Amino acid sequence: MAPVRLAGIFKAFGAVQALHDVSLDIADGQLMVLLGPSGCGKTTLLRAIAGLETTDAGDIFIAGRRVNDVPAHRRNVAMVFQSYALYPNLTVFENIAFPLRARRVPESDLTERVRAAAERVGVRELLERRPGQLSGGQRQRVAIARAIVREPEVFLLDEPLSNLDAQLRAHMRAEITRLQRRLGTTTVLVTHDQVEAMTMGDRITVMHQGRIQQTGSPVDIYLHPANTFVAGFVGSPPMNPVAARVAARAGQSGLSLGGQGEGWIDLPAAARPALAQAEAVTVGVRPEDLALTADGTGLVAGRVDLVEYLGSDTLVTVVGGGLEWLIKLGGGPRVAPQQQVALTAPPDRVYLFGDGGDLIGTLGELGSAAHAAG
Ligand code: ATP
Repeated sequence: MAPVRLAGIFKAFGAVQALHDVSLDIADGQLMVLLGPSGCGKTTLLRAIAGLETTDAGDIFIAGRRVNDVPAHRRNVAMVFQSYALYPNLTVFENIAFPLRARRVPESDLTERVRAAAERVGVRELLERRPGQLSGGQRQRVAIARAIVREPEVFLLDEPLSNLDAQLRAHMRAEITRLQRRLGTTTVLVTHDQVEAMTMGDRITVMHQGRIQQTGSPVDIYLHPANTFVAGFVGSPPMNPVAARVAARAGQSGLSLGGQGEGWIDLPAAARPALAQAEAVTVGVRPEDLALTADGTGLVAGRVDLVEYLGSDTLVTVVGGGLEWLIKLGGGPRVAPQQQVALTAPPDRVYLFGDGGDLIGTLGELGSAAHAAG
C-alpha cells in the first residue's frame, strides 16, 4: 500500500514562488494527474515527491512514511521523464536492466525481470538495439519498462507523451492507462494536456501559479469547476466567459450580461441575496451546452458571425449585445453567416462566478435553492 500525502508544501526559486501551500492526498493505486499551464509548478511538485528537489516547508509521506530527509535513491519511486533519458550507448536490455544492476539484483533474476518488463510494454523484440535505432514511441516504451522493472511503490511520469505525434500519443495514452490499472501502482502524471488529464486520471489536480485550484474526478472538474481558471482550462473549446452585473429591470432583479442590458437572465428569488453581494459576476456557459432555440427567444440573441465545420461538430460564433458566444453544435452546419439566432442553455449548465472568480453555483442550483426555500 503506497498512498502519497503532501502537506503544506512551499518552494521558492529566488523571487518565484513555484509551490504555495500545496496539500494533496493520493490514494493507493490511484492515477493522479497534475494539470496546469507551463510554469504552474507541476514538475517541481513531481520532483519534490521523487526527492530530486528540496522544499522550503511542508511534509511528504509515501506509504505512510515521512520522506523529507530520505534521498531520491532510497525513495521507492520510479520516474519517467519527457526526454526518456535513455543511455545511448547501452542496449535496450541494459537500459531496462540499469536500475536492477544498481541494486545488485542477481543475474538470473535480472534477465527474467528485464524480459518480463519488456514483454509488458511490447519491446521484447528490441532488446539488442540501441536507443538511436528506435522510434519515439519505442523509446517511450523502453523508458516505461525501465520504470516498471523496479516494481516501485510509486510511478512519477513527467509529460511522458509530449514528444510523440498525435496518433501515437492517443495510442500510448490508452496503453499507459491500461498498464497502470493492471499493475495497480500509485501514479502521479504531469501534463498540460487536458485530454490526457481527462482520459487518464482517476483524479485531476489543477494547478495555477504554484497553487492547487481544484482536485476532483474528471467529471467533477468538468461539471463543477471551482473557479474561472479551471472552467477556462478544462474544456475544448473553453467555456464562454461573459462579464455581467446584478441589475434591476422593470421590477425584476436579474443579471445584465456585459452590463449592456442586451442579454438578460432572470434570477430566482433565493439567488438574489447571494448575487447582490457579488455585484460583478462572470457567467460561464460551455460551447457544447449552448443550443439554438426554435422560437427565436432565449438567453441571448445575436447574429451568426462565423461557421466552422469540423466534420463531427460545427463551431458557430454568434455576436450580440457587444458579446461573442462560441457554440458547438453536433453534426453539420445548420446556420449560415448573418442569420439572426437565439441561444439557450440548461440552467444547471449556466455557471455563475463571483468577483474573485470562485464558483457561486449554477443557475439550476440557485433556482432549486429558491424552490427549496419557497
Ligand atoms: P512546464 O510545463 O513548462 O514544465 P511546470 O508547471 O512543470 O511547467 P515548473 O517547472 O515546476 O513548472 O516551474 C515552476 C516555476 O518555477 C516556473 O516559474 C519556473 O521558471 C520556476 N523554476 C523551476 N525550476 C527552477 C530552477 N531550478 N531555478 C529557478 N526557477 C525555477
